[in-house]
Amino acid sequence: MGIATINPATGEIVKTYEPLADWEIENKVALAQQAFESYRQTTFEQRSQWMMAAADLLEAEKEHFGKMITLEMGKTLKSAIAEVEKCAWVCRYYAENAANFLADVPGETDASRSFVRYQPLGIVLAVMPWNFPFWQVFRFAAPALMAGNVGLLKHASNVPQSALAIEQIFQESGFPSGVFQTLLIGANKVAGLMADDRIKAGTLTGSEPAGASLAMAAGQEIKKVVLELGGSDPFVVMPSADLEAAVNTAVTARLINNGQSCIAAKRFIIANSIADEFEEKLVAKYKELKVGDPMQPDTDIGPLATRSIVKELDEQVQAIVNEGARVLIGGKALDGPGNYYLPTIVTDIPATSKMAQEEFFGPVALLFRVADVHEAIQVANNIPFGLGGSAWTNDPEEQELLINGIEAGAVFINGMVKSDPRLPFGGIKRSGFGRELGIQGIHEFVNIKTVWIK
Ligand code: NAP
Repeated sequence: MGIATINPATGEIVKTYEPLADWEIENKVALAQQAFESYRQTTFEQRSQWMMAAADLLEAEKEHFGKMITLEMGKTLKSAIAEVEKCAWVCRYYAENAANFLADVPGETDASRSFVRYQPLGIVLAVMPWNFPFWQVFRFAAPALMAGNVGLLKHASNVPQSALAIEQIFQESGFPSGVFQTLLIGANKVAGLMADDRIKAGTLTGSEPAGASLAMAAGQEIKKVVLELGGSDPFVVMPSADLEAAVNTAVTARLINNGQSCIAAKRFIIANSIADEFEEKLVAKYKELKVGDPMQPDTDIGPLATRSIVKELDEQVQAIVNEGARVLIGGKALDGPGNYYLPTIVTDIPATSKMAQEEFFGPVALLFRVADVHEAIQVANNIPFGLGGSAWTNDPEEQELLINGIEAGAVFINGMVKSDPRLPFGGIKRSGFGRELGIQGIHEFVNIKTVWIK
C-alpha cells in the first residue's frame, strides 16, 4: 500500500493519496526557498505570535486531531488527545524561550568585541514516523521555525491525514505560505531531496535503516543531520526501590502508545531478591488490561499501527521462545480484524539470546534477573542502542552508579523515561545522534557564527 489511511482497528482502507509528481515536489521546494528569504528576517516577537496561535489551535481542536491520530495509527483516543496537548506545550515553550536561547553570546577575547550569533540555516527536511504523528513533528518544527528555518515534512506513509493537518495548522496560525509544507512522497524521494542544494539539513525519527540511509545521503552532500532512532530501554529495579510504584510505572512504561514508543521500557532488569514478587505483580497488572477499540474510553491497549508490525512482533516472540525463553502471559495476536497483539511478558531469557539484542516495537516486556547493581548495568548496556534508561533504587550510591553507568542519552531515577520540552532528548550508540527539545534542540539547525571585531 502506498500513501494511505488504513484504520488499524478494522483494517478498512479509509483514504488513499497519490504521491506528489516530481514537478509538484519542485514547486514546493522552490516555495520553501522563497519563503525562507523573507521569513528569516521576521522578528522573534512575530514568530512567537504565530507559534502561540498554533498552540491555541491545537488545544481548541484537540478532540478532532485526537480522533484523526487514533484512526490512522490506533493509539487510544485519550492518549492521542494528550499528544495534541503536548504539542501545544512545545509550541508555547519555544515561543516563550527562543529569543533568549538564540540571543548573542558574548565572549572575552583579544577583540574589542567578540560574540556568537545564531542564524537559521534554511530549509530543513524532516522525515518522521507514525508512532506519535503529531508530537514527533511539532518537537522538530517548533524550535526549527522559531529559529527562522523553514520546514519540509516527509511523514510516514500511513499517517497522511495527520501530515496534511499539521501543514494546515501552521498556515492557519499565520505563518507565511511555504514556511511549513508537507510532501506526500515515498521514502525513495528522500535521498534526492537531500542532494538538492536548497535543502540545508535533515532530521529523521525512525528505524536504523532509514536513519542510515538519510545520513548517507546527507554525508555525500556534507549536510547536518539529527537522527532519533530505535531503542530497547532498560528498566532496572533494585531491592531498596518502592516495588509497588515500580510495578505500576513498569506497566505504563512498557505499554504506552500500545507498546510502540522508542523510549518505552523494553527490558526489565530486576534484582534476584525481589524478582519473583515483581514478576507476580506485573503479571497480575497485565491480566487487568483491556485490549480493544482505541476510541473507547475504558480501553488500555489498542491495535498496533500496521499488519506487518503484528507479524514482525510475533516472529520476534516465537524466535526468543525458540532460544529458550518462556512466555508468562500473552504471546500471540488476536484473531479477527484489527492489528491486535496481546500484552506479553517473556522471562527466562538465556544470556546468549540474540533476540534480546533487538527492539520489540509492541507490547512485549522482556524480564531479566541480576545479582546486583553491577550486573544490572552490564545487562542494561548489553544492546546496540542507547536511548533512555529508567532505574529504581533508594540507595544514593546505586543511583550514582546507574546515572554514570547506563549508556544512554537519558537516565531517569525512580520514574519512567519521558520527553519534556524543557529537557534535551536523544540517544547515543545506534539510537542516533543530536538532540531535540530544550536549549540544545534549538541549537541543532542554526549556524553558530563567531563574530570578532577589532
Ligand atoms: P521507519 O520505517 O524508519 O519510518 C520512519 C520514516 O522514515 C517514515 O517517514 C518512512 O517513510 C521513512 N523511511 C523509511 N525508510 C527510509 C529510507 N530508506 N530513507 C528515507 N526515509 C525512509 O520507522 P518505523 O518502523 O515506522 O518506526 C519505528 C521506529 O522508529 C522504531 O525503531 C522506533 O524506536 C523509532 N523511533 C524513534 C524515536 C526517537 O525519538 N528516537 C521516536 C519514535 C520512533 P515511509 O513510511 O514512507 O516508509
